[in-house]
Amino acid sequence: MELATEIAILGTGFGGTLTALLLHRQGRRVVLIDRGRHPRFLIGESSTPIADLVWQQLCTRYQLPRLEALAKWGPWQREYPQLDCGLKRGFSYYRHHPDRHFEPNADHTNELLIAASNHDDSADTHWYRPDFDQFLVSEARREGIAVLEETTLDAITGREPWRLTGRHLDEPFALTAEFVIDATGEGSFLPRHLALSPQVESLQTRSRSVYGHFTGVDLWGPEYVHRGGRTADHPFACDDAALHHVIDGGWMYVLRFRSGVTSAGFLLNLEHHADRAAWSAEAEWQWLLARYPSIGRQFSRAETTPLCGPLRKTGRVQRRWSRCADRDWALLPFTAYGLDALHSTGNAHTLRGVERLADLLGTRWDHPDLAPGLAHYDTQLSREIDVLDQVVAGCYQAFADFRLFSSFAMLYFAGAIFSEVRRRQGKSGVHDDFLLANEPDYRNRLDRGVAELRQILSTGPVTAPRAEQFRQFIEREIAPYNMAGLCDPARHNMYPYLD
Ligand SMILES: Cc1cc2nc3c(=O)[nH]c(=O)nc-3n(C[C@H](O)[C@H](O)[C@H](O)COP(=O)(O)OP(=O)(O)OC[C@H]3O[C@@H](n4cnc5c(N)ncnc54)[C@H](O)[C@@H]3O)c2cc1C
Repeated sequence: MELATEIAILGTGFGGTLTALLLHRQGRRVVLIDRGRHPRFLIGESSTPIADLVWQQLCTRYQLPRLEALAKWGPWQREYPQLDCGLKRGFSYYRHHPDRHFEPNADHTNELLIAASNHDDSADTHWYRPDFDQFLVSEARREGIAVLEETTLDAITGREPWRLTGRHLDEPFALTAEFVIDATGEGSFLPRHLALSPQVESLQTRSRSVYGHFTGVDLWGPEYVHRGGRTADHPFACDDAALHHVIDGGWMYVLRFRSGVTSAGFLLNLEHHADRAAWSAEAEWQWLLARYPSIGRQFSRAETTPLCGPLRKTGRVQRRWSRCADRDWALLPFTAYGLDALHSTGNAHTLRGVERLADLLGTRWDHPDLAPGLAHYDTQLSREIDVLDQVVAGCYQAFADFRLFSSFAMLYFAGAIFSEVRRRQGKSGVHDDFLLANEPDYRNRLDRGVAELRQILSTGPVTAPRAEQFRQFIEREIAPYNMAGLCDPARHNMYPYLD
């Protein structure tokens, strides 16, 4: 098979397929290629307010009304009940200690709930990626976009145009394209074939993962109540959330879908949890559940789903490449880097990357401004990766003491909420940075927060007055961005959504 196109997009995760739809809408000729076939197992599921907002704005700008309902829980349930999805009212975090059941206390000092919506209808969602990605691919086909699944690429040669070769359904395959977008995520086809240099050592976050999709996972709320927890002032049901169990040197995400499937995984700091290479994923999973008995109870009946198969285990999750774009190729964010799932920043960042590339290639194709635009995409993405890394690495350090974590994490939430509101008000747009990464003032405050955190942690056990000083310090630092009353001790770590 021999094909020619303007833009080849490698990877039919939601990132690649959405990019294809937006470019097609602007009259560009695109071909989508994936080595797999839908539906297939994939993680990276939890949306956030900024992800929903960008999704909605893209649907409006590029006239994709059939996709709009996927931006919120309520419309999604009404329009696409057949596509599995989870209700996410916010973020919930619980601090566990080894060999002890979770012990709630009246002041919620070992838990943190941050609402991201004020009712279910407008809530964020967890995207069940086998359904979600397959639906987007069917929409791309419906629009007349060529989608080639089960296509294994072996090489990329030439330039002006590029020539991609491999096999499609066991037949030899070749595609010429003027521009290539790599949306293969961890597959990282283009970086490997263009011999970009890995830059993972520039990242401070160091974690690995054990994860899967399960049935039979119990709700956390009843276990929490059984242990004496008080839910009267919870701003939402703690299971209708991206539920985080924080443990020594790591954390676990638990994302429930309506169908009864739950996506869950541990992210483990490599210093605290050196890779037990000899252990299977199953052995390590069981060891962690035994070590944290309340989590163990929640997962005591859990079994992996047939589509997922056995539990999966990774080495270091972080990846990063030396470049994100050049004049005739670009990487979507999740190809350019992989960080950690903490706070669910990945999908929103991917959508911001899709949005920028669609705008650049749609409006400046065959225009001298395209190359400088792509150079800007490269530096901007790099800057954003550095900021996200600083936030996530800082949170891992703060896990040591939940009082520090629940203050430090506010540097992230204040920035995220501030940038969401600014965007909602039309004060920022397509080419502004993700998470205020280009605001020197915000970055300075983040730097100071990290420095203060390190200083406290380096001086031995954290006393109550020291933890309170840190809270006050962060409260002052986030003040110009704090639109949600974060760091307020009167809230006892329970933050409702403020319109
Ligand atoms: C453990 C973990 C948990 C995460 N959880 C969250 C979360 O809760 N919320 C969030 O916002 N983000 C999360 N993320 C990030 C999220 O996974 C990414 O943002 C998202 O998957 C990016 O989508 P994508 O379409 O760009 O890439 P992907 O989803 O990775 O899709 C890549 C596609 O490319 C195809 N492919 C791969 N290699 C090749 C090749 N050589 N040739 C052709 N096709 C290829 C694959 O088959 C796949 O279809 C998580 C990441 C990890 C590692």
